[in-house]
Amino acid sequence: MLHESRGPSKSINQKQNMCEAVIALKRYADLWLYDEASKDQSSSYPSFCRRALRTTTRSNVASLALATSPFQFSSGYCSKTCIPSRLKLVSTTCYATLSAVVKPQESAFDGKEAALLVDELRTSFNTGRTRSYEWRISQLQNIAKMIDEKEKCITEALYQDLSKPELEAFLAELSNTKSSCMLAIKELKNWMAPETVKTSVTTFPSSAQIVSEPLGVVLVISAWNFPFFNEPCDIARKLILDKILSVEPVIGAISAGNAVVLKPSEIAPATSSLLAKLFSEYLDETTIRVVQGGVPETTALLDQKWDKIFFTGGARVGRIVMAAAAKNLTPVVLELGGKCPALVDSDVNLQVAARRIITGKWACNNGQACIGVDYVITTKDFAPKLIDALKTELKTFFGENPLKSKDVSRIVNSFHFKRLESMMKENGVANKIVHGGQTVEDKLKISPTILVDVPEESSMMQEEIFGPLLPVITVSKIEDGFQVIRSKPKPLAAYLFTDNKVLQNRFVENVSAGGMGINETVLHVTLKDLPFGGVGESGIGAYHGKFSYETFSHKKGVLYRSFDGDSDLRYPPYTPEKKRVLKALLSSDIFGAILAFFGFSKDS
Ligand code: NAD
Repeated sequence: MLHESRGPSKSINQKQNMCEAVIALKRYADLWLYDEASKDQSSSYPSFCRRALRTTTRSNVASLALATSPFQFSSGYCSKTCIPSRLKLVSTTCYATLSAVVKPQESAFDGKEAALLVDELRTSFNTGRTRSYEWRISQLQNIAKMIDEKEKCITEALYQDLSKPELEAFLAELSNTKSSCMLAIKELKNWMAPETVKTSVTTFPSSAQIVSEPLGVVLVISAWNFPFFNEPCDIARKLILDKILSVEPVIGAISAGNAVVLKPSEIAPATSSLLAKLFSEYLDETTIRVVQGGVPETTALLDQKWDKIFFTGGARVGRIVMAAAAKNLTPVVLELGGKCPALVDSDVNLQVAARRIITGKWACNNGQACIGVDYVITTKDFAPKLIDALKTELKTFFGENPLKSKDVSRIVNSFHFKRLESMMKENGVANKIVHGGQTVEDKLKISPTILVDVPEESSMMQEEIFGPLLPVITVSKIEDGFQVIRSKPKPLAAYLFTDNKVLQNRFVENVSAGGMGINETVLHVTLKDLPFGGVGESGIGAYHGKFSYETFSHKKGVLYRSFDGDSDLRYPPYTPEKKRVLKALLSSDIFGAILAFFGFSKDS
């Protein structure tokens, strides 16, 4: 088993070499891991990788990785022997070794490499290969195939990232992405078909069309998570979902005929590596790539000129992305987050409302979801009933001790755990907890927590919570809730629970949000005919279904004329008669135009 970092041997004294050795090590880690998971050791890896796979059983993993890399290194910084049958462990330790030996500044993917990559993809794009219907369909079909065939590998990658074995809902999520792919395959001909539009008398005789064209080389940057559930899920499933759903914008980019680079989130390295491997295995490498990494790699990518940048993440990084894009006038889609409110009237079916709120909060990645319920607003009178119903249903969903429930996700990392914990401990907040509030730091678990009327100036009410804390804000009458929502930046989603149609209409008309659910949470995102995106602080642009295709297309207006019917009305010399005819034509006054044509005026 690989064990520790002892520093490089004398023969390894160049940083770059070390870095490349580490990359080789990581690559082997990925290969071992995924091949073991899929029992597919015969694929078309380079021969040195296959050799590595064959000899794993009797070798020191590190020296094998290093020795089979292009650089003949000693096994200086990895020791002990591997346990052949436990390749997962090998992989885990490779990652541990990696984190020990790779300094953040030794990014393997720098500006130079990013420029080369974009250049390469632009050259391929310029050959026109991505424009054809056949290329697009074949890539989409390969994505569908990849999802079908590699389900198990993805499951394994998830396990590696988060040690979470619960994958029951995984299939459903995969099939969700697959259904996006199948929709694109089914509709692509229609989407690509030019749309004929009306012409006017000024261009008579003519025809006109809106023609979609690809933008060129596009960049997709993903977050680690993505909300999608109406059922209990755990962080592991969530991560997989993100990784798979980071494919969703790629489906749009490919459908629209672009070359594309995907930069998945570094927070889940095994799933990122898997995507990189699967993309190179299944998709056209000359036009579709995955770049793994964190801030340095993303920065290197953002320094390049792209034809569109599609970013999913927080508003802080969204601003960095937009500033970088502005230098090249690159259009952006920003899929951000925000504080999503749920306004609850007193005429609701209490049990159903409570269940759906719980689903949109704790059963949605324990609150770590961009369209999850961030806070609830209800009337002072109704709040106790609603809170009681929430407590009852929470118990039904997650049992007496939700910290032990496999259906309550853990917090993604200790940074976010501490952030949430300090939110709860803030002055004037800690005493507002009416349910939950328990934490287990070493397991990164926080129980579903309800608070009532926390101060408006607390970070819980000023920042996106992105965790299992649910503040309930009380108002005198339900309409006052509109003002609470409007006092904050526009959310990605807003929810209303009421049977009152008038209130429903007022909510839809008067509350601005990326999307809405009336008597429902989160589920609107599953409808492919609804655009999904934010407004204001929650984002720019939208995707899903045909909207994904349009997001990555330019709509080009084209006028068609023949050489017939060429009138000299528009040509100099300009005469009063021509002016009269043109004026009549432009105001659709056919009778006036005919008169003017024959030298008469309507008034004469
Ligand atoms: P994040 O903004 O921290 O990271 C997103 C991406 O940006 C990652 O790929 C990361 O590598 C990169 N990045 C991070 N810092 C960077 C920097 N300084 N320069 C350049 N690139 C950088 O977001 P996250 O923590 O991964 O996700 C949580 C946020 O994303 C929440 O606010 C959530 O609401 C939002 N989100 C939105 C959607 C949506 O569809 N609208 C979906 C999922 C998550």
